[in-house]
Amino acid sequence: MKKIAVIGAGASGLMCGVFAARAGHNVVVFERNEKAGKKIYITGKGRCNLTNASDPQEILDKVVSNPRFLYSAIYSFDAYLTMDFFEKLGLEIKTERGNRVFPVSDHASDVTSVLERELKRLGVDVRYRTRVNGLLREDGRCSGVSYSVREGATETEKFDAVVICTGGRSYPSTGSTGDGYALAASAGHRIIPQRPSLVSFTTEPGEGELPAGLGLKNVSLKVTQSGRDIYNGFGEMLFTHKGVSGPLVLSASAFLGDDFSDVRACIDLKSALDEDALDRRILRDFEKNANKDFVNAIDELYPKNLIDLIVAKSGISPRKKVHDITKEERRRLVEVTKVFELRVTGTGGFEEAVITRGGVDVKEVDPSTMQSRILPGLYFAGEVLDLDALTGGFNLQIAWSTGALAGNSVCNEFDFE
Ligand SMILES: Cc1cc2nc3c(=O)[nH]c(=O)nc-3n(C[C@H](O)[C@H](O)[C@H](O)COP(=O)(O)OP(=O)(O)OC[C@H]3O[C@@H](n4cnc5c(N)ncnc54)[C@H](O)[C@@H]3O)c2cc1C
Repeated sequence: MKKIAVIGAGASGLMCGVFAARAGHNVVVFERNEKAGKKIYITGKGRCNLTNASDPQEILDKVVSNPRFLYSAIYSFDAYLTMDFFEKLGLEIKTERGNRVFPVSDHASDVTSVLERELKRLGVDVRYRTRVNGLLREDGRCSGVSYSVREGATETEKFDAVVICTGGRSYPSTGSTGDGYALAASAGHRIIPQRPSLVSFTTEPGEGELPAGLGLKNVSLKVTQSGRDIYNGFGEMLFTHKGVSGPLVLSASAFLGDDFSDVRACIDLKSALDEDALDRRILRDFEKNANKDFVNAIDELYPKNLIDLIVAKSGISPRKKVHDITKEERRRLVEVTKVFELRVTGTGGFEEAVITRGGVDVKEVDPSTMQSRILPGLYFAGEVLDLDALTGGFNLQIAWSTGALAGNSVCNEFDFE
């Protein structure tokens, strides 16, 4: 029996703890918070979209950074095994639109509870309010951790292996403040710079000028960065006080680079109509409202809250009588509708990002065991690694799969001694 330290009682750490304990090890989980799974609690709007009932390849297709690294992890513990795992622990689950899997109770806390109960059954020692702040090293191996229970008082403890499951930087209020990067760097690991992903955009026009709260359905969104198309999608989005958000925008954010000098979000507000069909539709509305002011003639065509912005972008005077609007002006209205452009100035940042891009460079981690290639005895799982996926339960699947693989692999090398 080997002694294993797991740093972090989030999704990956809880899963890793279960698998390491089931493999017969003596496991200690260190968690800086007063309870486990603070982030799990807020996933899926409190309902926890815990996985996506899809085949491994379909899951890997939704991974944005380093999908190939995940082959062993996802194939050895896929979505179906994950569902089976949770069901065996007594969690009833259901599958909704887009294969998204949730607890039947719609309570994310139930996901954490079954994991905690299993850890307890296995005799795992979970130490809350304990923040790991260093790794011990002996004879070229990772040999333990240093941690503080109270501010200023550091203690050390020896372990045969240590698994870093500290998450990324997003939603730092949940305890994921990026500690794992410093720990990994202290072991000699290269850390890929982080940026927020699955996050809203701030735009121009911005605060005060946008119809905050207005949702758009059945629209197309194209995002370009420095003239290059980085995203094309169809679906729903939402105006906020500072810019745009919603499913399309979150997905688009996963492909953004760092340079915001020329990022544009172009919304096709009438994607079901091509330009000619849209022009005919506008003409019909204009004929019906020939004697009205322009601003009062287009309320069947656009959401009420968007009309002022559309009028401003079209360059047509709001008080111009519809029968005076020229063909050229109508063409501009078509153009503004098909390419409703916002300049993207930034993102909502780590405070509101669902996931962190970047992290521990996966080239320095063995994908079949999750062990460090730099410091034997050190392992990684979850968002601390340079891995991220789109929404739909894929990010938690990464945490479950890498956590299970690390827990299963940890100290396996000793079997051959
Ligand atoms: C609002 C929101 C909604 C989301 N919804 C979904 C969803 O529905 N489906 C989905 O698939 N994904 C979702 N995600 C993403 C998902 O939550 C993460 O991918 C996942 O939680 C990552 O798991 P992790 O174990 O790597 O990290 P975390 O869950 O962040 O856990 C890390 C843990 O480590 C602890 N820790 C950190 N540093 C230390 C230290 N030095 N010492 C001790 N403990 C430490 C932290 O307190 C934390 O408990 C959502 C994320 C957010 C923010």
